[in-house]
Amino acid sequence: MKLSIVVPVYNEEVNLPTLAERVAATFAGRDVDWELILVNDNSRDNSWKIIGELNARDGRVVGVALSRNFGQQPAIAAGLAVAVGDVAAVMDADLQDPPELLLDMLAKIGEGYDVVYAMKRSRGEKLLRRTVFNLFYTIQTRLAEPKMVVGAGTFCMMTRRVIEVLNRMREHSRYLSGLRTYVGFKQTGVEFDRPDRMKGAPQQTFSKLMRTGMDAIFAYSYVPVRLASWLGMITVVFALLAAGWVLYQRLVTHTAITGWTSTMVSYLFIGAVQLICLGILGEYVARIYEEVRHRPLFIVAETVGLEAEQAKEGEAPPPQ
Ligand code: UDP
Ligand code: MG
Repeated sequence: MKLSIVVPVYNEEVNLPTLAERVAATFAGRDVDWELILVNDNSRDNSWKIIGELNARDGRVVGVALSRNFGQQPAIAAGLAVAVGDVAAVMDADLQDPPELLLDMLAKIGEGYDVVYAMKRSRGEKLLRRTVFNLFYTIQTRLAEPKMVVGAGTFCMMTRRVIEVLNRMREHSRYLSGLRTYVGFKQTGVEFDRPDRMKGAPQQTFSKLMRTGMDAIFAYSYVPVRLASWLGMITVVFALLAAGWVLYQRLVTHTAITGWTSTMVSYLFIGAVQLICLGILGEYVARIYEEVRHRPLFIVAETVGLEAEQAKEGEAPPPQ
């Protein structure tokens, strides 16, 4: 049985040697044939050079270089596309996902599961980042359809039949936890305490996290767009009540006063509600536009340690 370990890499030169070492140490003396696929998401540091050196030292470490910075999710897709293992794992390069946990995951696969995700019991990130993550996941997993598991991130292991389906899903709004949940089969989790990244600054900057976060919500939930309808209905009820009150004052008590305040308040309120609803609609429209263009999900510039045949699979197939 062969295990492919897919790792998206963006400016991780300080972490890569330790990562390769810990992966090798994890499987040393065990009957597991593995490959470590490091997908260089066009790092600006020396990551690609180091990937070359790691490959020269140990042929089981291979590299794929993307033509530009596509982001963590497309980089994962690129890695899964070239993976030849019967089982593939996905993990971060910064050692927040301990390679040793791969053994527990493999054991679960051995028990007959198709997907084993790592569940964060706790998080080692700085307080602010941790709080934002926790809040986001609580909201996102509530809204998502089909239901996702709270605390299950990208760190996971999947069997060949799951990988095949994922490779066929060409959508650009990629969010591995969501795609994986969608595929189904037998799924289970293993718990772990997630440390902070070993070295370097987070490469998922605020704007990149926002993009992934919006994808995670809008690509897996219609609640936001329904929220627009609900807001509309609630506003209508309020508007009817207000109209009744105004008419009562005008026709029965004859105390109608020319009210600037009430006009402004309702005007501003309705304007705001309309803008929110337009924004929500726009999020879905933008995603439809993104998908219908059928652009490749990622573009491979070069590879190291991969067979030419294997590398070619990295290019996106033509739209069905
Ligand atoms: N990453 C990537 N492309 C990017 C940003 C990040 O491939 O544009 C990789 C990064 O190298 C790491 C993983 O995605 O292996 C997660 O990034 P990070 O640790 O910064 O995010 P967090 O742990 O906060 O989710
Ligand atoms: Mg990290």
